[in-house]
Amino acid sequence: TWSAVPAGPPDPILGITEAFKADKDSRRINLGVGAYRDEDGKPYVLNAVKKAEEKITAAKLDKEYLPITGLSGFTSNAAKLAYGADSVPRNQNAIAVTQTISGTGALRIGGTFLARHYPHSKTIYVPTPTWGNHIPLFKDSGLEVKFYRYFDKKTVGLDFEGLKEDLQNAPEGAIVLLHACAHNPTGVDPTQSQWKDISDIVAEKKLFPFFDMAYQGFASGSTDRDAFAVRYFVSQGHQIALSQSFAKNMGLYGERVGAFSLTTASEEERKRVDSQLKIIVRPMYSNPPLHGAHIANTILSDPELYQEWEGEVKGMADRIINMRERLYQLLSNDFRTPGEWSHVKSQIGMFSFTGLNKEQCKVLAEKAHIYMTMDGRISMAGLNGRNIEYFAKSVDAAVRG
Ligand code: PMP
Repeated sequence: TWSAVPAGPPDPILGITEAFKADKDSRRINLGVGAYRDEDGKPYVLNAVKKAEEKITAAKLDKEYLPITGLSGFTSNAAKLAYGADSVPRNQNAIAVTQTISGTGALRIGGTFLARHYPHSKTIYVPTPTWGNHIPLFKDSGLEVKFYRYFDKKTVGLDFEGLKEDLQNAPEGAIVLLHACAHNPTGVDPTQSQWKDISDIVAEKKLFPFFDMAYQGFASGSTDRDAFAVRYFVSQGHQIALSQSFAKNMGLYGERVGAFSLTTASEEERKRVDSQLKIIVRPMYSNPPLHGAHIANTILSDPELYQEWEGEVKGMADRIINMRERLYQLLSNDFRTPGEWSHVKSQIGMFSFTGLNKEQCKVLAEKAHIYMTMDGRISMAGLNGRNIEYFAKSVDAAVRG
């Protein structure tokens, strides 16, 4: 029956982990996967999460199904975290929100909703480059995917002129996907003043902004600061779509906790939109899982745990910022590695686009047991006090050839 099914290509990122696992060298480093590691290179379960789980166990909750759109306390708190307590649509009860299977599920539900109900376009513009999964995910949702310029290889920074030109030339009403903060894979974000210009173009061209916020808190260490773009757009009167993930900022990767929301014009409109979100979710997976939503909701609704969580998010963000500074010093001052390395310091969030080319990445894997995606992206979280010097030395050797 399946004789005509062609073998698909392996996932580029998960393939790296396979190669890493097969390498038994004690110096091996995995910089491919986008999951936080602590100073010992170990996965990190947040204390706020452990305490929330203790509270949940003690409460002896049952395992009944959640409603189609999830745990209402969680969705309400997730919206508050993203939009802010004083957000106008939130206070008007005009934000439609559903719990999702993490950020990926949020993007998929959002893509499907827009393909079905957004009246002005079926085209979504995503940045080049973008998180690899955006492209198949939106195509599978029924949208056509096009691109706007984002990254300038020469400056290893934002191609702001290219971005503005491409959005200005997009057809009126098109959907535009914006990384709310900590752009993956480049680590390059617009400044606040650049966000204001983007908001103006979006208004002028009547584009529909769809924010992907997978790293709230991870960029600057402050969940409020990282929500700037989302809140600014809403304050300017844009209606937006928003995907949220709690994978990174609560370390809940495998628990799959996320939310998709849309701001609407009124409570009455919100109710109609809600009903259609349910119609999308019900035949897909009926209702979302329980445990992760309880963890996130316990943290977001308990002032003490919330405070502890904020401290831990900042701790993770700060450790990454320290690694950036240290790597910059090593390459730039200690080894005097040819090239300009200040982007390592200025980039934001979990990833750095190093500027290393495919050949150099290959050499690093084969000779130094260091694994990363072939576009030169490294997860800064994979670096720590024990391996960063070896990493910098190996980069230096690869660059010198
Ligand atoms: N969007 C971006 C930009 C991401 O980097 C990721 C995670 N790599 C996601 C969405 C989704 O992740 P998850 O489904 O684990 O929340």
